[in-house]
Amino acid sequence: MIRNGKPSPNHCSFCGRSKDDVIMLISGMDAQICELCVDKAGELVEQELGRPARHQQEEEQPKKSARYGGPLRLIPPGEIKSFLDEYVIGQDDAKKVLSVAVYNHYKRLLYGQKTKSPDHNEVEIEKSNVLFVGQTGTGKTLLAKSIAKLLNVPFTIVDATVFTEAGYVGEDVESMLARLLQVCDYDVEAAERGIVYIDEIDKIARKQDNPSITRDVSGEGVQQGLLKMLEGAEVLVPPQGGRKHPEQKLLKINTTNILFICGGAFEGIDKIIARRLNTQVIGYNKDAQQERIERDNLLQYVNHQDVKHYGLIPELVGRLPVIAHLDPLDLPTLRLILTQPRNALVRQYEKLFAMEDIRLEIQPEAVDYIAEKALEYKLGARGLRSLCEAILTDAMFEAPSIDQKEPRTLVIDRAYAESKLQGSRMARLKAA
Ligand code: ADP
Repeated sequence: MIRNGKPSPNHCSFCGRSKDDVIMLISGMDAQICELCVDKAGELVEQELGRPARHQQEEEQPKKSARYGGPLRLIPPGEIKSFLDEYVIGQDDAKKVLSVAVYNHYKRLLYGQKTKSPDHNEVEIEKSNVLFVGQTGTGKTLLAKSIAKLLNVPFTIVDATVFTEAGYVGEDVESMLARLLQVCDYDVEAAERGIVYIDEIDKIARKQDNPSITRDVSGEGVQQGLLKMLEGAEVLVPPQGGRKHPEQKLLKINTTNILFICGGAFEGIDKIIARRLNTQVIGYNKDAQQERIERDNLLQYVNHQDVKHYGLIPELVGRLPVIAHLDPLDLPTLRLILTQPRNALVRQYEKLFAMEDIRLEIQPEAVDYIAEKALEYKLGARGLRSLCEAILTDAMFEAPSIDQKEPRTLVIDRAYAESKLQGSRMARLKAA
């Protein structure tokens, strides 16, 4: 600011701001400069020298997630399985297979960290992505979720059916990594050792009776898209998910150490398994072998060949080397699911009522009844929750307004459960 041919001592000589509008004015020989103009000038100099400005440098610093930043600990398979036992009932085969796969996966990861130098004679341990085959509601997602809890690594669940081939309505497969990034506040390093659970993988199977007359954009195309990512590659991810577009800033993620667990019900795969088993046992010793096959749980014999026949492309099947089945839930298992796991439903309801200062007692016969109904309605373990809600809604509605002088124990016996369920909408469900 020039006054009477002289710069005013109370104004910035560059932007003209008054002394009162800025934090400080630095005086030179014949001029003053405010802190804002100092910053601006600094940026111009950095630009001229081709260096990023200070605030940009800060932005480009890799982000660190406070929650997932800690070092990885290698947990032996036995310990992993014991942990899973606390949350998941039964499913011993799946637990064992998953424990070994996870152990090997992280062993490979830690070993890789120690020996950074590329040794061409070194045996390279390949990734052990997992495929779960089992009816809906048998604990596939729960297993994956529990593993992530144990390892304290970022974890996300995605649905394979939302993805489509580029150029069509839907999401790019890469966007599943965006969700992983979101869980760990965009800490790329943490995301790079996370776990992704891809649900409904069977729904993107190739349609056998439709050999590419129309394009199979959400099936085979998506399977192709998954290949690179499952194997381990540098993938460009749109940070907000969805579709990639040209002007978007993309984040680069290396998927080599991300564990992918895929799950699906593969409805009808039992017929494929039965056909294979039947053709295998034709010939000598046929009767003895057939006797050993348990007809009502054919899923336990599932192998890669069956999954391929079902419609997963061979390249994808090859990238899911570990396969495990989940058993259908029977009555004793459903009963245990209600009461035994660490956050079993019965425990959850007891806690809810305890918050109202009420002791909830669900008698064993009532537990039996709920398990029987879940089996009858063919709802699996997911149905247990809806049944409990139907039985306890009235009590939960009334609990907060019960007089303090009233008895503080609520006993749920079989008769109570039956009467509440009969009056509810759930009772209209018929066994399919
Ligand atoms: P899905 O196999 O369809 O992925 P989920 O793992 O989502 O099934 O199971 C649905 C719910 O049922 C879970 O939240 C869990 O409470 C319960 N559940 C299912 N299977 C088991 C199991 N084996 N042990 C304990 N709870 C289970």
